[in-house]
Amino acid sequence: MLLSLAAADALGAATEFKTPQAIAARYGESVTQYQSGSVFGFAPGEATDDTQMVVATLLGYARRDGLTGVVHALSEWLAAGPPDVGGLTGAALRVASLDGGARAWQASGFEGAGNGGLMRIAAVWIAGFRGTALACEAAAVTALTHPDPRCVYASVFLTAFLEALAGGQPYVGAASEALAVTDDFDARTVLLDAGIFGVKTQGAHAAFRDRERGARAEIRARVRSGLGGGLTSQSGFVLDTLEAALKHAGAGTWQACVEPAVLLGDDSDTVACVVGAVAGARGLAVPAHLLTPLRLGHSWPGWQRDWACTEHFPALVGAAQPA
Ligand SMILES: [Mg+2]
Repeated sequence: MLLSLAAADALGAATEFKTPQAIAARYGESVTQYQSGSVFGFAPGEATDDTQMVVATLLGYARRDGLTGVVHALSEWLAAGPPDVGGLTGAALRVASLDGGARAWQASGFEGAGNGGLMRIAAVWIAGFRGTALACEAAAVTALTHPDPRCVYASVFLTAFLEALAGGQPYVGAASEALAVTDDFDARTVLLDAGIFGVKTQGAHAAFRDRERGARAEIRARVRSGLGGGLTSQSGFVLDTLEAALKHAGAGTWQACVEPAVLLGDDSDTVACVVGAVAGARGLAVPAHLLTPLRLGHSWPGWQRDWACTEHFPALVGAAQPA
């Protein structure tokens, strides 16, 4: 799953922020190889902030200090000056505490509902969380930067979806099962218990409580739309990304899942990254020619930009998972 999401992210890196017309003009009707032209200067084969934050999260779990270890690992990634950082992500991680996301969300006037939590949340499945523990961890890790209930419950849905797919469930059945998990889950209590909502973030807590019912309904609608082939946009809004990923990631091969996300542009690397996680959970094989050159486009404590992902991912995942 980790190699799959990284390869998909790197394939989408060149087309991020471009229009479908500009992509077709520059790269043609099909993108099967890593390309140059990233607006952030990523070289062909380099994965972006999405995968970097998945890896940073895994480095955090390897510290054996729970959510605190994850926050510190993400903050170290940020402190090393990555080429691309989402707005709310940067504001949250500069606080470098469990409630940084809730404080940044409050400061934004509760505006931020980007895909910056969803894009990295496969990390908690990769780290070995399953069942109720997976849902709790998905909620908390998302809220470290994106505590809007649409972001939090989208991550609860996605991780339950990954678990059901990896367990061999068919695509639509896995989505139904994941929606049931999302509907039954009380993320607000989890965020209170985790110290993400507290005395300094009472406003965020109240906003979350007021909006969580509506958020679940919106997620249900977007999941059903995506399963039916609907796509609103590949914008950075979390529900647009979720819907687009569901539409793309049910195709028959890895390339057929990922390529539409790459060709549609806009936030193509993030949509592709989420699609890559789903394709990985389904066991679809990443084309071999995309694995050898795969790198991450940033160096920070625990990772070097010239490291081959195929070589260094196994030890990283081993260190993140429970002994
Ligand atoms: Mg990115």
